[in-house]
Amino acid sequence: MSKQFEGKTVVVTGGSKGIGRGIAKVFSEKGANVAIIARNLEEATKTAKELQGEHNSVNAYNADVTSNFSLEQVAQAIANDLGAIDIVCANAGIFPSASIEEMTEDQWNRVQNVNAKGTFFTVKAFLPYVKKADFGRFIVTSSITGPITGYAGWSHYGASKAAQLGFMRTAALELAKDNITINAVSPGNVFTEGLDGLGQDYLNSMAAAIPFKRLGTVEDIGHAAAFFASKEAGFVTGQTLVVDGGQILPESIE
Ligand code: NAP
Repeated sequence: MSKQFEGKTVVVTGGSKGIGRGIAKVFSEKGANVAIIARNLEEATKTAKELQGEHNSVNAYNADVTSNFSLEQVAQAIANDLGAIDIVCANAGIFPSASIEEMTEDQWNRVQNVNAKGTFFTVKAFLPYVKKADFGRFIVTSSITGPITGYAGWSHYGASKAAQLGFMRTAALELAKDNITINAVSPGNVFTEGLDGLGQDYLNSMAAAIPFKRLGTVEDIGHAAAFFASKEAGFVTGQTLVVDGGQILPESIE
């Protein structure tokens, strides 16, 4: 039996670890040829080897999403290697912490550049290729933090994650004429290398705040991305799917 994404090419920025790795894993298991992008090529190559399926390819590429030129180069390289590009997941992101009182202009700019401008550059660089697909798909990894919730130390991060959604809604209007959808997944707290760096106390307090009493897995986010990428989701665009185990729902502490 053929797999759901057999013959499709999927690009995942920030695919070397964390949520991006989970997205790449799900698409690889569903038969897609996957191109993962990160700045650290060695790490990305190791991940690509681990995710390689029996009948599909997983390749690693080096690019920095804060550079339009870098993304244009990598889009060309992926198209040369794999032929077509059907689905692009703009997932790369950073979440350093700084209070408003301590935050420097450089720290603010860095977060906007990777998370918000990086999403714009990713869509812009891959659009000429995705336009050629039967049905193209862009999937953005946003967050509950910013669009829905706040968290002390993440004002710059929250602003960047809300900016992604504002960008996405207008992009949905512009891309519709080319039969391309763009949607966003907004994860709650998902256990990743990046989140692990915030410490065990943070992880414990977050798990306690989630009705399912666990952090999300990277595959939880990968399956949501696969829904938006499916042929069957072709009439869904400009939307956001929160995947958070009910974290944003409680009105009070039990
Ligand atoms: P992570 O474990 O730190 O992984 C981040 C990935 O992005 C890595 O592959 C990293 O590789 C890549 N990356 C970072 N900066 C980049 C740049 N300038 N250019 C290209 N690649 C870059 O992070 P994560 O927790 O999986 O988060 C991934 C996304 O999910 C982010 O957009 C984040 O905001 C969102 N998110 C995460 C959570 C969570 O609980 N973990 C919750 C909500 C939303 P290199 O360093 O080698 O470039």
